[in-house]
Amino acid sequence: MEKRRLGRTGLMVSALGLGGIGFIGQYRKSKDQALKVINMALDAGVNFIESARAYFDSEEIIGEVMKTRRKECYLATKSYLRSAAQMEKEIERSLSALKTDYIDLYQIHHIQYLYELENVLGPNGAYAAILSAKKQGVIGHIGVTSHNPKILEEVLRTNKFDTVQYPFNPAETEFYEKITPVCKELDIGSIIMKPLCGGRLKSVESALSFILSHDISTVIPGCVTPEQMALDIKVAGEYRSLAGEEKLALSEEIKNLPDQFCRRCRYCEGVCPQELKISDVFRCEEYLILNATYARNEYKSLEKLADSCLDCGKCEEICPYNLPVRDMLKRAHGRLSKGKFEDFVVNLVRKIGIYDRVRKLYFDIFRRIPER
Ligand code: SF4
Ligand code: SF4
Repeated sequence: MEKRRLGRTGLMVSALGLGGIGFIGQYRKSKDQALKVINMALDAGVNFIESARAYFDSEEIIGEVMKTRRKECYLATKSYLRSAAQMEKEIERSLSALKTDYIDLYQIHHIQYLYELENVLGPNGAYAAILSAKKQGVIGHIGVTSHNPKILEEVLRTNKFDTVQYPFNPAETEFYEKITPVCKELDIGSIIMKPLCGGRLKSVESALSFILSHDISTVIPGCVTPEQMALDIKVAGEYRSLAGEEKLALSEEIKNLPDQFCRRCRYCEGVCPQELKISDVFRCEEYLILNATYARNEYKSLEKLADSCLDCGKCEEICPYNLPVRDMLKRAHGRLSKGKFEDFVVNLVRKIGIYDRVRKLYFDIFRRIPER
């Protein structure tokens, strides 16, 4: 497995890492499968595993493997919490879940606005707690993650972060173009999330080859099944710059991506009189396919929900992709707000241990995967 330098951390990480988002909700549901995926990755030489406090049981699952294989990889995780007091406790929770006494990289999760950065870097902000843990030898390095290309250069220019995690794939290249020169200048390691554009790109081999051929440190696809892991390992061993036909097929796929697909540029948010975090609403909707509980919790935690939209249409005037933003918001709100009765039923079938059988029955009858 090819190793690359993770910026000024000096860590030599595998070009293919493993993202822990795929393990959300797997502890009770398919723990053995998740453990198999992690073991396969380590066996193949993947030495960078990443998770988040927000990914429910993901850290716990990774921790199961770390009981015996901790020395074989670098561990990274992250937290949304913004105050020093909260973060201090959060690091303890990560250490306990991951069954380790040392985390190689702790990241401030999802910085979307500069005021958040100010809070985080302030005297009582989360950064101080991570720095203190670093001085105590519990944390190795400090990173940051974001879905907002507009502010990221400013975030990195504070020179407080050793790594940055951002979305990059053949359909979303804006971040990479903006951030790579800054990463080079400040020697910041780059960790790539959303390599398949939130599951929209089906040409896994081409998309991963495309990313690996660029100047990044590591890409961390979230694998759920051993088959997905095997494919990613194969691509990481064989990838090369895409040639004519593959390039053409990929651009054709990108052209044919559904029109109603938010690219997270956030131009609309600058003009919204309600200051709605429009792209965050769509991000939560994306998560429905992975784990509806997680998606709904994320949605509920937004400052304003999509039903506060005034229907003024300013977002649609500015959206460079001509998206019908208002209709999309209504749809997203509908999908993310329903479900009290479903939540009750799903929790019940989970509790009595027949969730997988019910899910399969649903699929057999309706020929589609249920949302949760
Ligand atoms: S809705 Fe349009 S303008 Fe707003 S973030 Fe998405 S792509 Fe950008
Ligand atoms: S239509 Fe709604 S979401 Fe769009 S700018 Fe107006 S208030 Fe904001």
